[in-house]
Amino acid sequence: MEIWVATGNSEKIKEMSLILSPAIPGLKLNHQGMIPGFTPKPEDGKTFLDNARIKAKSLKAVRSNDWVFGEDSGIEVPGLGNLPGVHSARYAGAHARDSENVTKLLKMITLRNVSDRKAKFHCALVVFTPSGEEWVFEAEFWGKISKSPQGIMGFGYDPVFIPEGESQTLAELGPGFKNKHSHRSLALKMFLEKYKKI
Ligand code: IMP
Repeated sequence: MEIWVATGNSEKIKEMSLILSPAIPGLKLNHQGMIPGFTPKPEDGKTFLDNARIKAKSLKAVRSNDWVFGEDSGIEVPGLGNLPGVHSARYAGAHARDSENVTKLLKMITLRNVSDRKAKFHCALVVFTPSGEEWVFEAEFWGKISKSPQGIMGFGYDPVFIPEGESQTLAELGPGFKNKHSHRSLALKMFLEKYKKI
């Protein structure tokens, strides 16, 4: 099986591969960067689902007979009015690095005197089947924001996200833990359940 993923984030591809490959022998995960001249549409949706659909549709337009995945995710802090939300990748500016987004998140929590550091990752996954059917999966992963970044594994906000019931960040816990429990792994497992039934 071959899947085209509408992302430019190699860390997401790595995670998807670790989660899907054991369940789909011979899986080939391709990404939009492999299509010469492909220009993704702006992610200007109001929700993760809007943006996942924008990504999936623009890739499906050029890979019409293939399996296509559009995935959009981010972190929401209820104490900050659910920010950064759909702005997670660009929280500290249009081309912000992960470390700059993390620094801004910690700064905003301090500035706004947020005492409840509860947070959740959200993943929206829009799948187009080769025949053009749309499948939608969404999942959440709850935890809290640490006082400072800890650990070097993963990407994005992993160094400041402590999953519920744990005392270390995702960046310390590593891929074995993350790919069992994360928002992305939950959404992908929902896809696998549906895929196995066809
Ligand atoms: P997207 O590529 O537009 O979906 O942006 C997602 C952004 O949300 C990433 O750049 C990260 O900042 C954040 N994010 C999404 N999923 C994760 C995760 O699993 N760990 C850490 N950060 C994440």
